[in-house]
Amino acid sequence: MPTSPEPPSSFLLDQYRQTGRFPINHNYLQGQFADYDEIFKELALLVERGDFTLGQPVKDFEERICGLTGARFCIGVGSGTDAIFLSLKAAGVGPGDEVITTPYTFYATVGAIATTGARPVFADIGPDLNLDPRKVAEVITERTRAVVPVHWSGLPCDMEPLWELASQHDLKIVEDACHSLCGSYRGRSTGRLGWTGCFSLHPLKNLNVWGDGGFITTDEEEARDRLSLMRNHGLLDRDTCAVWAYNSRLDSLQAVVANHLIDKKLAHITSSRQRNAHRLDELLAGVEEIHLPERPPDRVHVFHLYCFKAQRRDQLIPFLQEHGVDAKIHYPLPMHLQPAAADLGYQKGDFPQAEATCESVLSLPVHEFISDSSLELMAQKIKEFYARPVR
Ligand SMILES: *Cc1c(COP(=O)(O)O)cnc(C)c1O
Repeated sequence: MPTSPEPPSSFLLDQYRQTGRFPINHNYLQGQFADYDEIFKELALLVERGDFTLGQPVKDFEERICGLTGARFCIGVGSGTDAIFLSLKAAGVGPGDEVITTPYTFYATVGAIATTGARPVFADIGPDLNLDPRKVAEVITERTRAVVPVHWSGLPCDMEPLWELASQHDLKIVEDACHSLCGSYRGRSTGRLGWTGCFSLHPLKNLNVWGDGGFITTDEEEARDRLSLMRNHGLLDRDTCAVWAYNSRLDSLQAVVANHLIDKKLAHITSSRQRNAHRLDELLAGVEEIHLPERPPDRVHVFHLYCFKAQRRDQLIPFLQEHGVDAKIHYPLPMHLQPAAADLGYQKGDFPQAEATCESVLSLPVHEFISDSSLELMAQKIKEFYARPVR
């Protein structure tokens, strides 16, 4: 492990303040929680009852998620990362096993695999920017136990070929659905496309709370039983521990915030993102230098990110920023080239699609506070950039 002279300081608030200076930005939390008084009132009731741990709000939340996704069961946990980690542990994954995932994801997908003791194995992505099932087939070995497809940016993966591989090789599919709540594949919700579906309630996700939180969905009783134990010390009751386990519960307090959003805002959050994304698709349709990802008609995309590949991306971003647009890169370096992956033995060139994507991808904000005129301005500035002579 590389050592640094000092532990890294928190860069998160600085990051927020930085992006806050752009008139068109990814930073919408103050607007979203402008009605926090209402939530405070609900929290006051919670404090009066002392119902802090796996309380009624968590049960209510789990029920709402079952309603929303159609899943039979939901288990509230501490974060999206824990949702993946606990699912893999519940599937029996551990040291000596291999778990296949995409190198084009957020660090947590790989971190959750590695912390089970299993080896993360990467397979390249396809034109939808998700795991390419043909590449997955190439890296399956005797030791492969699970696949973690990531529904990147909110677009569900092409699941049919993954289901076939899973049944041929007896693999568990653990969906990283952290970007894709309310998305679907052939009429079936994300979170019901694998053995378990893993979601995050992080402040930057589509359904978000005031800190960390996550949940797991499943149709399998066996998974529900194990996971309900594993998030709560393995306890059957106060005095009986069935398995040595973890403490990773969704806080009642955060469940109150999530329930409020599900009841009042989630439909609006989702439909605004979809509407804004479709509008941008139209506005950008004629620009040759940019390349929108595939949007297959059998999938409902929820646009947690609106991302696309662009020529001269590294000049385009500062140009957009100069004009007040918070264009961002999610993310500049694929997982197999991160310092953390050094001991996995991968090299540059191993996953050309993921690498090319990281070198050319950018994201524009499409959240519920982005106006039509902002969408038009973003498209206009992109066109202006490409109309300038290349120097
Ligand atoms: C956010 C995210 C996670 C982790 O969620 P946390 O709640 O922050 O732990 C995992 N995978 C992906 C793709 C994510 O974007």
